[in-house]
Amino acid sequence: MTIADNLHQVQQQIEDASKKASRTANSVTLLAVSKAQEINKIEQLYQAGQKLFGESYLSEAIDKITALQHLDIEWHFIGPIQSNKTRDIASHFSWVQSVDREKIAKRLNDQRPDDRPALQVLAQVNLFAEASKQGSDAASIENLLSFISDQPNLTLRGIMSIPPATADHGQQREQFAKIAEVYQQMRMQFPSIDTLSIGMSGDMIAAIEQGSTMVRVGTALFGERPANWKQKLKAN
Ligand SMILES: *Cc1c(COP(=O)(O)O)cnc(C)c1O
Repeated sequence: MTIADNLHQVQQQIEDASKKASRTANSVTLLAVSKAQEINKIEQLYQAGQKLFGESYLSEAIDKITALQHLDIEWHFIGPIQSNKTRDIASHFSWVQSVDREKIAKRLNDQRPDDRPALQVLAQVNLFAEASKQGSDAASIENLLSFISDQPNLTLRGIMSIPPATADHGQQREQFAKIAEVYQQMRMQFPSIDTLSIGMSGDMIAAIEQGSTMVRVGTALFGERPANWKQKLKAN
């Protein structure tokens, strides 16, 4: 299968899952997660029609963004954010999906270059108390959203979450239902938000059933990331 075949297959799966959930296919946006994948594969996917790409590791991301600046790609930052990295994130990305605390939101706001439109922001929530993952808990999410929405150079778009990995469809559904409930509550407080970013290669069908508006898909589009990719990325 070529990369273009993978894209068409994932698009078909999104369409089928949307129909099953009585939703229109275009209510779910596909973000291609290209971390640890080669630049020429990103280009192939772009030529096949994919415009939104997500990256998690900043130095790798900046190399790719620079190499591909002739393409009309919308870049999303989806990885953990250290405060000394906010300036580069604010200047290279259109969206940041992993804002988990006010300090980071404030720095991204203050460091967004004047000549770029407002940074599109999702707050990352972690409802399952997983220490290995960033994210605001349910009790603090409303304050975080409120803080983000007060920043002039940020546009609050919604929430992102990565629940515990499981192959069990019922458990995936339960976890996503819990996140979707928080999203719906927040939508009552912040009516302009429109993005619930949940679902990856292994669980995007359950996420779409539960109301995802954006799935973040890597492996199903690009194939497996290379062995020991984490060590390689951390080394640079
Ligand atoms: C890597 C990653 C994905 C994509 O995961 P796949 O299983 O390859 O689809 C999605 N979201 C985040 C935040 C990631 O880091």
